[in-house]
This record gives sequence, C-alpha cells and structure tokens, in this order.
Amino acid sequence: MCQHSPPGSDRFGRFLREQIDRELDSLRTVRENTESGSGDVLPHLSLFRGFRECELKSRLLRMHLRCGTGEGPCDTIGAVFPPEDERGCLTRALLGLPYSDRPGYLPRWRP
Ligand SMILES: [Zn+2]
Repeated sequence: MCQHSPPGSDRFGRFLREQIDRELDSLRTVRENTESGSGDVLPHLSLFRGFRECELKSRLLRMHLRCGTGEGPCDTIGAVFPPEDERGCLTRALLGLPYSDRPGYLPRWRP
C-alpha cells in the first residue's frame, strides 16, 4: 500500500493549517474568558505571545506553501525534499514539530 498522498494534495500543509487554526480558536476562547473573567484565563503576555506565535507559523507556512512543487522558495535554492516526501522542505517539516502529538500527525513527518 502506498502511504504517500497523491501529488498536489498537500495533506501535510492542510494538517499544519488546521492545527494553527485550532490554536487560534483556543486562544480566542481564552481571550474572551480572560476579558469576561470566567473559565480558563491567561495573563495578557501569554495571550499576546500565543497570537504572535500563530502569526509567525502562519506566515512561514504561507511563504513555504509551494515548496516541493517546483514553485517554492526552497525549490529555487534546491533545498526541497524528494517529491514523494509530502513535507516539502525542512521549514515545513519543522513547523509540524509542535503538533507531533496531535491526531493525524504521521510518524514519517517527524523532522
Ligand atoms: Zn520551503
């Protein structure tokens, strides 16, 4: 059985986007709780940092979205993974590391 996704499906990229979106949803909920004083709350600095980290990951993912397709910045410098490796490039692979405990993360994605 082939364990790789068909070309162009970008399963790994979708996984990353979904994890970042979930993180943002959680942060928004905690921010609402913090503002209303109910439920889980976080100090302002932690919330600020959480949102900025999501922004950083979103920007990196957007920059490296096409890596491995022949159209990304890492393709230009010849620093992409082989075509059968759906991670695309090392930057994308590293972006997945914080989510390696999440459902859907595949062991072969580990950098
Ligand atoms: Zn890249």
